[in-house]
Amino acid sequence: MTTVDRDFIFPILLSMIAAMNNELNEQDSDEENLDPIAISEEQFDHAAIYVKGLKRGLIEFLKKPKRVNIVNFPVEMDDDSVQSFEGYRVVHNRVFGPSKGGIRYHPDVTVEEVISLAKLMTWKCALVNLPFGGAKGGLVCDSKRLSERELRRITRRFTSELFDELGPHQDIPAPDLYTNEQTMAWIFDTYDMLHPGFNNRPVVTGKPIEMGGSYGRHEATGNGCLFATQRFLSKAMIPEHQDVAGMRAAIQGFGDVGAVAASAFHHQGANIIAVSDSKGGIYSATGLDTEEVGRFKAERGTVVGMADTMTITNQELLELECDILLPAALGNQIHAGNASNIKASLVVEGANNPTTPMADRILQRRGIHVLPDILVNAGGVTVSYYEWVQNQINEQWDYDTTTEKMRIKIHAAMDAVFNRWQAFVVGEEPTQNHIPDFRTVALVIAIERVAHATLMRGIWP
Ligand code: NAD
Repeated sequence: MTTVDRDFIFPILLSMIAAMNNELNEQDSDEENLDPIAISEEQFDHAAIYVKGLKRGLIEFLKKPKRVNIVNFPVEMDDDSVQSFEGYRVVHNRVFGPSKGGIRYHPDVTVEEVISLAKLMTWKCALVNLPFGGAKGGLVCDSKRLSERELRRITRRFTSELFDELGPHQDIPAPDLYTNEQTMAWIFDTYDMLHPGFNNRPVVTGKPIEMGGSYGRHEATGNGCLFATQRFLSKAMIPEHQDVAGMRAAIQGFGDVGAVAASAFHHQGANIIAVSDSKGGIYSATGLDTEEVGRFKAERGTVVGMADTMTITNQELLELECDILLPAALGNQIHAGNASNIKASLVVEGANNPTTPMADRILQRRGIHVLPDILVNAGGVTVSYYEWVQNQINEQWDYDTTTEKMRIKIHAAMDAVFNRWQAFVVGEEPTQNHIPDFRTVALVIAIERVAHATLMRGIWP
């Protein structure tokens, strides 16, 4: 079943959501807890209610990271001073294979945030059926204040501190916030210097094309956002919009994910009315030319100030009158304080963890659909997987091949989530008087797969 039988489903859906509202109103008045581990545990616990036969010991195992590395190291700066840096690499789970996940450079990154992001990677890989577990890395630094040479020395030293934790069959980093193809090339080179005599290319993905990177990887996460949205719309959940053409989209963040998503949606006829970066946002009621915005950002370092646009704040962008809101920057952007003001009918989570649990409940009550991060932004890790495969066999596939393979996986994951959600809506699965939202359903599927595989392997010894 790919489309909803609306006459049948919506009366049931509306009555169940109405029944749930009183309970939600009470919960929303609580103080919001933004601790990333508390949020990931709340999301897990909420999904675990719907997972059949999940053993108690497994719940504890799946909620905790497998391994947390915290490293401190000194680096000589360009002005001859010495600065100390702290970095994290967290492995959450390796039931399906080597752990996989990006490394972010950000002054505010914490080990708690990295733990929560590592868990997210486990669920994401399981949801799109990749033979990887979840990991994540973070380095506390402000990359905008560092020279290229400093960044290279910091990256090399960080990689060497992780030494044998990383490996093509063990733990495989990728780009994330404020890391890019160049960062991945330095990680590869450092690892290769320390492990000579092997084909070390698959130790990291998101590399430059000349270094064994994959065509389509740079665009993968943004393209995946488009594919997930198109598949969702084709199911007629928003009857007036069964395709992105003509829809007004506001995109927060204009980096690897946001800029590519803006261009991908624009090329399919969506009207990109606003984009932003860390310095602020721009708005045009008639729509932005995304290529023009890209050129302006490359020249000036920000989107703010482009001709014929109105400058807005990131907060104003989130609350714009639009059809699609696509957060593609930091976590916790949609929270209890602004969820009631969101006017989009669809939130497409390009970023990881952009919506808090309390905001999720408010949006669900208001009938705003949220397509969750582990589904929507899984295009990146999917093409990273194809890069890893290509590196093992020393091949390089073309852009269309990797993009089409990724599109099929994202569509399959969206279908799996949607079909399971329908099973709750029509009462084929027990709802506990609470129809789970798409995030919860996606997590249910992922947790079931990881839990099942854990038991199928047989717990060692
Ligand atoms: P990036 O560093 O390339 O871009 C980040 C963008 O966010 C930049 O435009 C930056 O200016 C903007 N930004 C930073 N602080 C901001 C703020 N306070 N308000 C508004 N905008 C701000 O990073 P990216 O790779 O595009 O990642 C963006 C998000 O997508 C992150 O949450 C990341 O975890 C997630 N993600 C990335 C990938 C990937 O393949 N790169 C895959 C999956 C998920």
